[in-house]
Amino acid sequence: MKRSTRSVMDSIRLTGVRAEAAHGVYDFEHVDKQPFIVDATMFLDLAQAGRTDDLDDTVNYGAIANGIVEIIEGEHVDLIERLAAKIADRILDFDRIQRVIVTVHKPNAPIKVPFGDVSVTIERSRDHTGDSAFASSDAESRESHGSGETQSGARPASRVHKAVVAMGGNIGDVEQTLRAAVVAIDGVPGNQITGISPLYRTAAWGMEPGTPDFLNAVVEVTTTLDADTLLSALQTIEAAHGRSREVHWGSRPLDLDIVDFDGEISDDPHLTLPHPRAWQRSFVLAPWADLDPNAVLPGEHGGRVADLLDGAADRDSVECLSDTWILGGTA
Ligand code: ADP
Ligand code: MG
Repeated sequence: MKRSTRSVMDSIRLTGVRAEAAHGVYDFEHVDKQPFIVDATMFLDLAQAGRTDDLDDTVNYGAIANGIVEIIEGEHVDLIERLAAKIADRILDFDRIQRVIVTVHKPNAPIKVPFGDVSVTIERSRDHTGDSAFASSDAESRESHGSGETQSGARPASRVHKAVVAMGGNIGDVEQTLRAAVVAIDGVPGNQITGISPLYRTAAWGMEPGTPDFLNAVVEVTTTLDADTLLSALQTIEAAHGRSREVHWGSRPLDLDIVDFDGEISDDPHLTLPHPRAWQRSFVLAPWADLDPNAVLPGEHGGRVADLLDGAADRDSVECLSDTWILGGTA
């Protein structure tokens, strides 16, 4: 019996591909070159390459990087939106790639106020039709289809994990951002949102006076992604909503944390599980307990989420705003 492998959710991530070119709306931007930096996450099935160790069974990321630079250095465009679209199209020319997330940064854009970076992120997928979706680059799947095997025979089984993700933010139209984040999390291939908590408001406790209140919610997700890949997908979504990682603990348009992943315990600083501060944060515990009254947080400080909430020092700093926020504006 072969070990089962994830069939479609593997990814290759290429970041910081940089070239200089004269793109932009202003006249001087048609003349003066400035840097453009591209990050791309390509979703494809890497099971075959994992078995064969053969470059022909994956995509050559060097070739993709060259293609990105060719587009940056190619024909003038006014908008980085257009640049991102051209890059996504070029990447999807590689038949094996099913879906791609492209971010184009323009760090020296002509903006009159001090700023860190500006970027555009887009997601594009190959058009799928019926059962043959995702199978086109997989010789094994083609054989299975040919011999009339069922779809489950054709696709190796994916392990489905259960994750709890805490969402929050305090800059911009946060409620709208949180709705967009739910859609984006659900849209990541392999993810399925299975529960959405009520929306909570939380005073910006322990932060500078005048810091805007936070809005928070918790979602449950089933996913075929492993925890690290889920975290990268969440960070891509944060970045798409203007999150920069310079200020920890500070104000932010969107923060997405993995609170729990299959009850796993890990002290890896890159991904600590369960989230190390969840047990004492009412803005995580209260929406989570609403969503699942029997939820249990694993680990050293763990316990029934509803009980942890009862004992939490900041219990009174959270206020439930709406059960139906996902359907439209409430806050
Ligand atoms: P916080 O959410 O604690 O305010 P950030 O969102 O800025 O802080 O995340 C800082 C780092 O925390 C990230 O780079 C990430 O790798 C790490 N991290 C560790 N465990 C987790 C987790 N369970 N969920 C999300 N990020 C985590
Ligand atoms: Mg975070």
